[in-house]
Amino acid sequence: MRQTIVAGNWKMNASKETVNTLVVGILEGLHNVKNAKVIVCASSPYLSQVEALAVHSQLNLGAQDLNVNASGAFTGEISADMIKDFGAEYVIVGHSERRSLYGETDEIVANKVKAALDNDLTPLFCIGELLEERESGNTEAVVTRQINAVIAKVGIEAFKNIIVAYEPVWAIGTGVTATPQQAQDTHAFIRSLLAENDADIAQTTPILYGGSMNPANAEELIACEDIDGGLIGGASLKAEDFLSICKAG
Ligand code: PEP
Repeated sequence: MRQTIVAGNWKMNASKETVNTLVVGILEGLHNVKNAKVIVCASSPYLSQVEALAVHSQLNLGAQDLNVNASGAFTGEISADMIKDFGAEYVIVGHSERRSLYGETDEIVANKVKAALDNDLTPLFCIGELLEERESGNTEAVVTRQINAVIAKVGIEAFKNIIVAYEPVWAIGTGVTATPQQAQDTHAFIRSLLAENDADIAQTTPILYGGSMNPANAEELIACEDIDGGLIGGASLKAEDFLSICKAG
């Protein structure tokens, strides 16, 4: 039995005031979330604030990216140790925005997954196809390439500590959600890819759906056999909406 996981990706949306309102709001309603593990992934400058607000709560903290190096001359970057210094245990790796806007290749993403694991952070490892890749029937080929790059780097055993997030790029921030059937089909395919390497690990690896998940569609998506929760962008910025998704799990 896999636990439902709901993770919020705030992206570059925050101020001290909005973070306070959002986290206080989430904490107020968190006791009504019975099944899901809840994670919020904040921008680096706000990790400390969330850590302080969420101390001794069920709310888990993550970062949105990491540098593979431990320290040194990497202006503007953030290391795994820095992330852990603020009590965060999770890090988003390979989000489609990092892949498309910052040139992160499968190789770079795989190295970041490895760096996270080597430093006891759990990567929320994002994969997903572009619209043209889906339309040309290449969804399975794309996710196969993305998953295999990470298996080649860290091995299948490492998936005991990896959360996969399937995020069709055409659904991210667009208001267009994959249908439950489209999402379930791809999730089942991803699980079958993992099973080619290890059947038990395939059964225990959480695979979250991301892409315009909201309070209206979350329950139907999370009810699908191979969908173990969500990675939520826009709808994670309002406590009420985010909690409603968390309760759907
Ligand atoms: C995301 O950025 O990971 C995401 C799923 O965004 P949204 O929910 O806004 O589509």
